Amino acid sequence: MSELKLGTKCVQAGYRPGNGEPRQIPIIQSTTFKYESSAEMGKLFDLEASGYFYTRLQNPTNDYVAAKICALEGGTAAMLTSSGQAANFYAIFNIANAGDHVVASNSIYGGTFNLFNVTMRKMGIDFTFVSPDCTEEELEAAFKPNTKAVFGETIANPALTVLDIEKFAKAAHAHGVPLVVDNTFPTPVNCRPFEWGADIVTHSTTKYMDGHAAGVGGCIVDSGKFDWTAYAEKFPGLCTPDESYHGITYTEKFGIEGAYITKATSQLMRDLGSIQSPQNAFLLNMGLESLHVRMKRHCENGQAVAEFLQAHPKVLYVTYCGLPGDKYHEVAKKYLPNGSCGVVSFGVVGGRKGAEQFMAALKLGAIETHVADARTCCLHPASATHRQLTDQQLVECGVRPDMIRYSCGLEDSADLIADIAQALDSIEA
Ligand SMILES: *Cc1c(COP(=O)(O)O)cnc(C)c1O
Repeated sequence: MSELKLGTKCVQAGYRPGNGEPRQIPIIQSTTFKYESSAEMGKLFDLEASGYFYTRLQNPTNDYVAAKICALEGGTAAMLTSSGQAANFYAIFNIANAGDHVVASNSIYGGTFNLFNVTMRKMGIDFTFVSPDCTEEELEAAFKPNTKAVFGETIANPALTVLDIEKFAKAAHAHGVPLVVDNTFPTPVNCRPFEWGADIVTHSTTKYMDGHAAGVGGCIVDSGKFDWTAYAEKFPGLCTPDESYHGITYTEKFGIEGAYITKATSQLMRDLGSIQSPQNAFLLNMGLESLHVRMKRHCENGQAVAEFLQAHPKVLYVTYCGLPGDKYHEVAKKYLPNGSCGVVSFGVVGGRKGAEQFMAALKLGAIETHVADARTCCLHPASATHRQLTDQQLVECGVRPDMIRYSCGLEDSADLIADIAQALDSIEA
């Protein structure tokens, strides 16, 4: 059969039941797996044979779901993690040690920014943050001899900047390091970063992939294209013997297609243990089965809401790359031709108070620190995640006091627009 289309992969990839086996993926609710002999189990511990022995490292339910996401992204290997935070941590920590350096976009998700700028710095890893809009020269200047990776988000949460993946991939490859892209917001339905030169993709599956606010989770996918052995001196963890596995060398034993994920599983998951629960992986798979259908609707609602807001006299600005005139409209046409996501941000008249009045009047949009749910949710960062900041500090970090982040769910757009219209009317300014 020729290469299956994306929607078919959403429904069927990753798990193929045999004769008389369950149609739905089984939830293997077991911490451990039984063997006939110690010798057989020993082979697993030496990575001489593949198989399951303890769910902290691997579980079949998780592997079915990881295989589906791997197929959707067009990668060669993938693993699930307990959260998006764990995915981004492992993705970098798998190739960067104390004394190493990473170049990252400065518009990334706040949680990832803290992970890098605070926690991973404490571990001795250095970061240089660059604007996603930087010139090639500015990007070039960010690299150091000890740089091990470049990191960005396809569509940043909540800044909604769009990454020029080819520009970042070119710079990374010129320095012999991989580009890691967090593809949470568009999902592989709307963008497959490997097609544009990215080497590793990460996800917070908590967002659109799950899509129903049911489970926190993450995923890492390897394109299998980055040749670690060509820069072996930069990546000793992949290209020299691992003494904790009797001296196997990951690139020799698993090839460039398998080395990165095998190392992340057998070292990081073994030692740090951020596995996704099989129960959550099952729920995630239910979300994935309708991802292609849902993304289309999220994007249609995002576009309709953005267009309505743009034409409304009480709205000062709208950020949505689907709008002609948006700063990222042109770059989005290239990387996101079928749509971006359902998250729109905008500012209302009346400053912080106007935004508070708007939020209080909404009936369908629920106030939550979440996005990408089937149910519309929204957040006023100045009174929630960023409430400790003054108006001046807010402006400095790019979050205006009047800014609202509105994540369009799967409802009928006419109802969302009517709800927004009455909430805008309620602003007294
Ligand atoms: C939410 C999010 C994360 C963190 O994911 P969790 O599943 O909440 O740990 C990372 N990156 C992006 C782009 C996100 O939106």
